[in-house]
Amino acid sequence: MATESSTLAPIIATAAKKFASARDIHTVGDLLAFWPRRYRTRESDLGSVTPGEYLVGVAEVKSASTRPMRGRKGTMLNVVITDGRHDIDITFFKAWGHERVLVPGARGIFAGTVGTYNRRLQLTHPGYTMLDDFDAGNRKALIPIYRSVGSLHTWTVTESVRRVLEVLDEVPDPLPAEVRERRGLLSRMAALRGIHTPDSWDEVEEARRRLRYEEAFVLQVTLAQRRRTASGQVTTPRPVRAGGILEAFDERLPFELTSGQREIGTTIADEMARDVPMHRLLQGEVGSGKTVVALRAMLAAVDAGGQAALLAPTEVLAAQHHRTITELLGDLAQGGMLGGADEATRVALLTGSQSTAERRRTLLDVASGDAGIVVGTHALLQETVDFFDLALVVVDEQHRFGVEQRDALRGKGSVPPHVLVMTATPIPRTVAMTVFGDLETSTLRELPAGRAPITTHVVPEDRPGWMSRTWARVAEEVRSGRQAFVVCPRIGDDDVVDEGTDLRDEVTDEDGEPPAPARPLKSVYAVHAALAEEPAVSGLSVEVLHGRLPPEEKDAVMGRFSRGDLDVLVSTTVVEVGVDVPNATVMVVMDADRFGVSQLHQLRGRIGRGSHPGLCLLVTGSDAEAATARLEAVAATTDGFELARLDLSQRREGDILGAAQHGRRTQLEFLHILEDEDVIEAAREDAFALVADDPELSAHPDLAAGVRARVDAEQAAYLERG
Ligand code: ADP
Ligand code: MG
Repeated sequence: MATESSTLAPIIATAAKKFASARDIHTVGDLLAFWPRRYRTRESDLGSVTPGEYLVGVAEVKSASTRPMRGRKGTMLNVVITDGRHDIDITFFKAWGHERVLVPGARGIFAGTVGTYNRRLQLTHPGYTMLDDFDAGNRKALIPIYRSVGSLHTWTVTESVRRVLEVLDEVPDPLPAEVRERRGLLSRMAALRGIHTPDSWDEVEEARRRLRYEEAFVLQVTLAQRRRTASGQVTTPRPVRAGGILEAFDERLPFELTSGQREIGTTIADEMARDVPMHRLLQGEVGSGKTVVALRAMLAAVDAGGQAALLAPTEVLAAQHHRTITELLGDLAQGGMLGGADEATRVALLTGSQSTAERRRTLLDVASGDAGIVVGTHALLQETVDFFDLALVVVDEQHRFGVEQRDALRGKGSVPPHVLVMTATPIPRTVAMTVFGDLETSTLRELPAGRAPITTHVVPEDRPGWMSRTWARVAEEVRSGRQAFVVCPRIGDDDVVDEGTDLRDEVTDEDGEPPAPARPLKSVYAVHAALAEEPAVSGLSVEVLHGRLPPEEKDAVMGRFSRGDLDVLVSTTVVEVGVDVPNATVMVVMDADRFGVSQLHQLRGRIGRGSHPGLCLLVTGSDAEAATARLEAVAATTDGFELARLDLSQRREGDILGAAQHGRRTQLEFLHILEDEDVIEAAREDAFALVADDPELSAHPDLAAGVRARVDAEQAAYLERG
């Protein structure tokens, strides 16, 4: 008998080599996790077959004839197969003995790419197996169809899986019997049989239900354990101190905190005052004021004698945060300097592209504790970075960082620091429960009062007059004292997109024409040049910004734009996150159809931040219906939660799980994060209860093994990415 770790060769002989080379499938367990893509019933419908399709169908031989090849040696075999209503021709240019098998009345499964000849559908040299042979061991009503495995025929795959199931011992089951019973779920063994050798659709569904639950459950146990470990850690309490920098900051704030900001601020302060490290996710609508919330937490850390680090995903964003924080703090950021306030600290910036001298100075400030706040990119994670006393880690725009990076930064404290994670955009509840399931969640639901609304329009670029009208609107805004962003998907003409750009494949309509040749994407430099020729905007100051500019130049351009010395900024998506220029009121997004929905929403969040109404123009040259529909959706609502759902529904699950969970083995096969809310909730409840009772899973060795396998795979995927 075999177990899941048995190798395949002794069981399925020669096919084992193909599985290994084509699909990296080596063990029984690997093969059993090679899930059927779909199922085919015994009855095929040859009427719905279209040219180009890969057909796997059950049919009967209606007629067969051989004839000599014209002018060549050998015999050609022509067969007609039928499902009883529709026929397809089969041609073998050499009969090779097929004529002895494919005789009228014989039934088989045929597989091949459908072509046409003389306006009739035809299979040339298809693979086939006769049902008499196949049925001997497989009388199932449904035939599972797998992804192709090199040159193996689909039924060889089916047969191999069936063979493996025959010799398989009872498999370990990560789901505890109690959970299985209470939730009415199949055992793992029954589920494997149900998915690979079902008798009915009901069996398939029950098997899927069980496997879906298992995925959710193992994931939630992993998260529950992470949380449990974290809550067992001891850290230094950082209670709020009266008369410190936080109080001074609050007094200087030019606006009232929203009630959400205040409430979450209290929650964070309470958690930081405890000796268990905080692990909190802060999410909220674009422009809801997350930065201020995070900054107040950082100041509390400084008041408590510690340091705070802010980890940003890009250099531009790190620089922007550094500037914003420095400005918000004013003289409170001039610690040790002439003119600095008494309670003042210093805000350091650490990025990969700094000069050695600059870097050395910053590292000293960080190590001595003179810098109370340290903003940086992943350069912060390097070993040479030594904190004097790291009290709080704030991770901005978490979706670009993995759990491992969070851990790396967390390891920089002498005791585990408190952690606050900010997401760029609001995330649906189920995503919060899975991707960020080890964190407590706070959500900023309201925007600060007095925000002017943003109007969004889709601009078809090839409609006569629309583009010049677009530029005219930009000029109008500038003339009334405002500023404008123009965002492009590329930097120059060499196809380079910028760091952090999230481009979609060109969207073509489902069953329309074959995809049109890709349109060249608008580049920052091309648009900058075009604007120089555009009469509507003549006389305006226009500059470019993208991630490849030298850091000083980026800073200088951003500085000019922030101060209002620059009318129009033509840039890549470097302005996507965080960039805060309240006087900017127009945004033109070129090739908008090529950006993801959330990215567009995020981009749009750069305008309408002040008291003047914002205008966002989504320019597209695509007339694909799906692309237009997506843009219309962005134009129709500013509800980030709704758009996040829409965006995520268009991605693969692996992308939703994010960097932390990439890798072949860790992708979810059965669980759909957006749709399976009930499953995720139920699994979470069961998992957290179980871990509370048995944190080490010592009474559940099979579950422990399942969890370990998942965690190992995640780590392997992380190491692979480097
Ligand atoms: P996001 O949540 O998108 O990161 P920010 O923190 O960047 O939002 O805040 C957006 C803008 O709103 C900033 O200019 C910030 O100074 C301002 N802001 C934050 N909180 C308030 C408030 N309570 N009242 C008025 N303006 C605020
Ligand atoms: Mg922000």
